[in-house]
Formats: sequence, structure tokens, C-alpha cells
Amino acid sequence: MEDFKLNLLNLDEKELTDYILASGMKKFYGKQIFNWLHGKLIRNINDMSNISLKDREMLFEKTYIPLFNLMDHKVSKIDGTEKFLFKLEDGNTIETVLLKHKTRNTLCVSTQVGCPVKCAFCATGASGFERNLDVHEIINQVYTIERRLRNKGESVNNIVFMGMGEPLLNINNLMKAIILLSHENGLNISKRKITISTSGIVPGIEKLLEEKLPVELAVSLHAVFNEKRDQLIPINKRFPLEDLFTVLKEYQRITNRRITFEYILIKEFNVSDTDANVLADFMHEFDHTLNLIPYNPVVENDFERPSQKKIEKFYNILKNDRKVNVVIRGEKGTDIDGACGQLRQRNAK
Ligand code: SAH
Ligand code: SF4
Repeated sequence: MEDFKLNLLNLDEKELTDYILASGMKKFYGKQIFNWLHGKLIRNINDMSNISLKDREMLFEKTYIPLFNLMDHKVSKIDGTEKFLFKLEDGNTIETVLLKHKTRNTLCVSTQVGCPVKCAFCATGASGFERNLDVHEIINQVYTIERRLRNKGESVNNIVFMGMGEPLLNINNLMKAIILLSHENGLNISKRKITISTSGIVPGIEKLLEEKLPVELAVSLHAVFNEKRDQLIPINKRFPLEDLFTVLKEYQRITNRRITFEYILIKEFNVSDTDANVLADFMHEFDHTLNLIPYNPVVENDFERPSQKKIEKFYNILKNDRKVNVVIRGEKGTDIDGACGQLRQRNAK
């Protein structure tokens, strides 16, 4: 651990420039150092070849570039999905998943160690909550994997904050990370290619609106009745469906952006014809995409996945009878527990 040194990847552009000026370096070094850190993704301060030797020595003494410790790496034989297990400086571990599509790579990024929301169906929630991830721990998931992809002539094209944790409960670090990841002098990943998935943290959605961050929003709905949603997502008691509905209406009125909704299908729980019809009414209130996710039995509970026939019936009501823009989400990396929501905190301390 390098406690006494300044962690360069935790600084936003202004903080970095201020530091550079305060250390007596030339002002135009700001842009160059930012690009070494966030664009070229160097690992060693010494590689900053357009920075004077004297300043590099000073930086080396007073600052550092944190590196991730890769503890495990699995590749799915079915679809090439890759799962990375990283060890953090304090011994905690997080997982990041790389989803391979024909023409693009999507990275599923974690924002917390564990998750305090503790949804009844989720392995991350069941593994408890340790802490929020720092800015450098969020962006380093992307940087570490981007470096590997560059060696193959590829790169990270899309980012989904659907790994471990509830992104909107770590919103300050999340926003700082998004601004760095989308910076034109960094990886320059378009904000339109960044999706935040939330269990429905109403003040977090309000904050996104205030900050005018034009990222994509995905909402984990999972039920359209409060009694059922309370059982799945405990935080629904604090932010019930009516409040979520209101803030999302406002979100769409102001941003004009389509919202993705996620709905886990659980046998004899949320897949009746009534559920389908009330869900369709909800969807018609929004410019929407609806993802149906057949439940994955990953934690000890009574939930089961519905039969294929039932899944199709539910889908058909939505799609054909009610003209909802709906898809059944295909599973990725099932042989390596790679699906989002199956990531758990490993005990590696
Ligand atoms: N905390 C955020 C993002 C991480 S969870 C959120 O809840 O939206 C990412 C997705 O994985 C969520 O849509 C969740 O519904 C899904 N998921 C979690 N556990 C699952 C399970 N056992 N089966 C299927 N999907 C699951
Ligand atoms: Fe947290 Fe999302 Fe899992 Fe719920 S589904 S416990 S919000 S990570």
C-alpha cells in the first residue's frame, strides 16, 4: 500500500491540473499527464516521455498509479464471456465481466464491494456489504481490461454499471468515474454507451437529472405491485413504485431518453396474466425497452425459474397482445457464473 503517496487515478481533471500547478510544473503538463493516465493507460510514471526527468522523479516520489491485482480469470467455453476477479489494496475483492458481441465489447463494471440493498434473489446482496468503491477502483476495472484488449486490437465499447453493488448509492464516485471514462483526452467512451442500472434509488435518479449526465438508465423493476416488490427489493419500502414512477416520468420528460426496464421472471410469483397486463400498462407510460430475465437460482431461497412455456406465454401477452417493446434476455457465461447478479464477494482477505 502506498498510503503516503497521492493516488493519481483518483483525481479529476481540475484536481490533477491544480496539483500540477501547485507542484511548480508547467501548466501544459496537465493535458499531457491526463492523457498518459487516462488515454494511453501507462502503468509507470517513468513512461511519461514528454515530461521532464526532474518532474517525473518528483511525481514518482510523491504520487503513484494504482494497479489492480488480477486473482482469477475465467473464460466461458460457450460464448467467450470473461470474468475477472480483482483484489483491492485492502484485501477486498470485486468482479468485472466482459461480454463479447460480434462487433463490440461490453464491460459489466462493479461500483461497491457487495451491496447494501440485499435483494432476495441476488448473490451480490447475499454476500453482504463492505464499502463503496473509490473512483480509481471503478475506472481501473475498465483500464485493466482495456489494456488487455488493446493488445488484440480491440477495446471496451460499452460500459454497463450492472456488476456488484447499487451504483446510485455511490453516486459521487460514479459520476466522477463516468466523467473520466468519457473524457475526450481519455478513453473517450461516449456517455450514450454507458448504462447505469439501478434498483430504484429515487434521490439518485433526481441527482442524475440535476447533474445532466446524459447516460443511459436501466431500472430493475421486477414487480408492478408494492407487496411483491417489497419482498424482492427491500428498498421498495422506502421508495415505493408510485415514487419511482413519478421520478421516472420526470426523468423522461426532461431527458427525452428511452428507459430500459429489467424484470426477473420468478415462478408463481410475478408471471401471472395480471402481472403481464399491469406491467404492460406501466410500460406504455414510457418510451421503453423491457428486458425479461428468467430467474437464475443463485441464492438459498424458494424462488424458481418458470417453465419455458410459462415464460413464452408471459412474453406473448406483452409482445403480441399489448405491443410492448420486450425481449427475453439471453444468458451469458453460464458456465463461469458470469451473469450480472451472480457476482459475489469472495473471501480473499
Ligand atoms: N444494483 C443494480 C445493478 C446490479 S444488479 C440493480 O439492481 O439494478 C444487475 C442485474 O442483475 C439486475 O437487473 C438484477 O435484476 C439482475 N439479477 C440479480 N440477481 C439475479 C438472478 N438471480 N437472476 C437473474 N437476474 C439477476
Ligand atoms: Fe444490489 Fe442490484 Fe443485487 Fe439488488 S440486484 S442486491 S441492488 S446488486
